Amino acid sequence: MRRKLVVGNWKMNGNRAANASLLAGIVAGIGAANAANAANASCAVCAPAPYLAQCQETLAGGAVAWGAQDVSAQPGGAFTGEVSAAMLADFSCAYVIVGHSERRAYHGESSELVAKKAVAALDAGMTPIVCVGETLAEREAGQTGAVVSGQLGAVLDLVGERVAQIVVAYEPVWAIGTGKTATPAMAQEVHAQLRAQLMAKNAVAAETVQILYGGSMKPDNALELMAQPDIDGGLIGGAALKASDFLAILHAAN
Ligand code: 13P
Repeated sequence: MRRKLVVGNWKMNGNRAANASLLAGIVAGIGAANAANAANASCAVCAPAPYLAQCQETLAGGAVAWGAQDVSAQPGGAFTGEVSAAMLADFSCAYVIVGHSERRAYHGESSELVAKKAVAALDAGMTPIVCVGETLAEREAGQTGAVVSGQLGAVLDLVGERVAQIVVAYEPVWAIGTGKTATPAMAQEVHAQLRAQLMAKNAVAAETVQILYGGSMKPDNALELMAQPDIDGGLIGGAALKASDFLAILHAAN
C-alpha cells in the first residue's frame, strides 16, 4: 500500500513571524496525534526560498519535511535570480515542486523545461513533485487526458529509470484557489490515467509512485478525495496556511 503524502504549498505567502506560528502549530498538532494516527501519512511544507532556512531550523529532526516551490534547471553560474537544486539541498529540502500551473502560466514554463527541473532535483537527491493539470477550456474541449499525458510524458522521457523517485500532483487549473474541487470520481479518473501512463513506463515503479490531488482540497473534502484508490494525498494551497486546516487534512490522510 502506498503511504499517503500531504504537502503544503505556501505559494508567495508568509513572513518570519507568521511562519513561526504556523510551523509551531503544525508541529504541536502532530506531536499531539497518537502514533497510530501518524502511521500512514507523511507531510511536508513547501515554503518560499528565503524561508527555507527557517523551516530547516524549526523542523529538522521532526516529522515534517520541507521543500521548495521551484528550482532552476541550471546547475549554477550566471543565472540572476535563480536558485539551484544544490542550494535547495544545502538547506536539506526533501521536495521541490516543479511545473506548478502558476509557473507554467505566468513564467511560460514548458513541459520540457519542467522535465529538466525534475532531473535537476533528482540529481541533487530531492524528490520532484511534478504538477500536471488542464485549464477549464481544455477540460470543456475534452482535452484533459491529452494535456496531462503530454505534461507527464515529457518528464517520464527525461527521468528514465528514476520514475520511482518522483511524486506526481494532478492539479486541475480551474480548481486552484477557486473553491471548486474536482469530484472524487473526476479526480480518480485522471489519477487512474496517470497511473496507467506510469505503468506503461515501469509497472513496478508505478505501484509506488504517489499521485497527489491539488485544487481547493480542504478538511471537508479531503477524506473522500483521498479514499479514491489512486489518490495518494494532497498538494494544498490555501488550507495549508492555517495549522488547524492542514492538520485536519493530514488527519484525513491517516
Ligand atoms: P488551493 O488549495 O489554494 O486551491 O491551491 C492548490 C495548489 O495550487 C497547490 O499547489
